[in-house]
Formats: sequence, structure tokens, C-alpha cells
Amino acid sequence: MKQIGQHAVVIGASMGGLLAARALADFYAEVTVLERDTLPLTDVPRKGVPQGRHAHGLLARGRSVIEAFFPGWTDEVVAGGGARGDIVKDVRWIGHGVTIKSAPSDLIGLLASRPVLEGHVRRRLLALPNVRAMKTARCRD
Ligand SMILES: Cc1cc2nc3c(=O)[nH]c(=O)nc-3n(C[C@H](O)[C@H](O)[C@H](O)COP(=O)(O)OP(=O)(O)OC[C@H]3O[C@@H](n4cnc5c(N)ncnc54)[C@H](O)[C@@H]3O)c2cc1C
Repeated sequence: MKQIGQHAVVIGASMGGLLAARALADFYAEVTVLERDTLPLTDVPRKGVPQGRHAHGLLARGRSVIEAFFPGWTDEVVAGGGARGDIVKDVRWIGHGVTIKSAPSDLIGLLASRPVLEGHVRRRLLALPNVRAMKTARCRD
């Protein structure tokens, strides 16, 4: 692909920042992701993503975008304990007390903890030769 710049900097190594960095890696010689948290070596919650302790699921479009960026990523998450499923047929959706009818679809989502989803994206991203992560100094907060 055509290189459009030498160095791109992304602030925040959460899902948005990691995926932005992946997109930029195709077009910049070097991509640096700045994160104020120390990035964990294992898939555990961290301060910058407080919702990471809640149950998480990835809807179909998000899963397919990540899969296109990192082929085989869904299988890796499933091997790490995630569950793949038809989000219309396999999930019970209830809105305003009404259970929505389930039916087969081609919308394949992914259930896993947030640290697992993010950890698998982070490892695949940082395996790219032109991407690195750096920790910023933490302001008082
Ligand atoms: C309770 C809850 C449940 C959710 N459940 C789901 C779900 O099931 N499925 C789903 O797809 N989405 C879910 N979401 C939404 C999802 O978590 C967010 O859309 C997503 O985290 C947004 O990602 P982000 O990278 O834009 O921002 P954030 O996740 O907020 O990340 C920001 C990052 O930037 C870093 N940062 C902040 N300031 C600085 C700085 N000055 N310098 C360096 N780094 C900095 C932070 O440490 C953090 O890593 C949920 C959200 C909440 C609150």
C-alpha cells in the first residue's frame, strides 16, 4: 500500500487506539501508541478501562473488522476461552420486557471478557514490525 507519512502517533491503547494504530500501520512507516497505563502482560483488567470488569460481547461487524485486520483472531480468542455465536439465534434479547424472536442469521459475534478481547488485539498489533507502544507519564488524576 502507498505510504502517506513517516510517523503516526495514537494516544490511548484501548480498543479504539489499537485498531486505529492497525489501520495506520498500512500507511505509515512507524506507528507509536501512547498509553498511560502499564500494559498488562496477561489479560487482566486495568485502570484505564474500568468497564473491563463487566461482561463483554463483540457484535458481528466489530468482530469481522478485527478479523480482517488480524486473520485468525476470532479462533485465537475462542481458544483462549471466548465463545463464538449467532447473535440473533443464540442470544436472548429482551427490550422493554419483550423477548425478541430469535432466528438464524449470518451475524457471528464473540463473547469474551474485555481484557481477553483487548489483549488479543494488542498482542497481534504489537507483533507488527512497524508498531510499538510507549507508556506516558501519568498526570495526577
Ligand atoms: C459498562 C460498559 C459495558 C460495555 N460493554 C461493551 C460490550 O459488551 N461490547 C462492546 O463492544 N463495547 C462495550 N462497551 C463500550 C466499549 O467499552 C467502548 O466503546 C470502548 O472501550 C471505547 O474504546 P476507546 O478505545 O475509544 O476508549 P477507552 O476504552 O475509554 O480507552 C481510552 C484509553 O486511553 C487511555 N488514555 C486516556 N487518557 C490518556 C492520556 N492522556 N495519555 C495516554 N493514554 C490515555 C486510557 O488509559 C485507555 O486505555 C461498554 C462500555 C461500558 C462503560
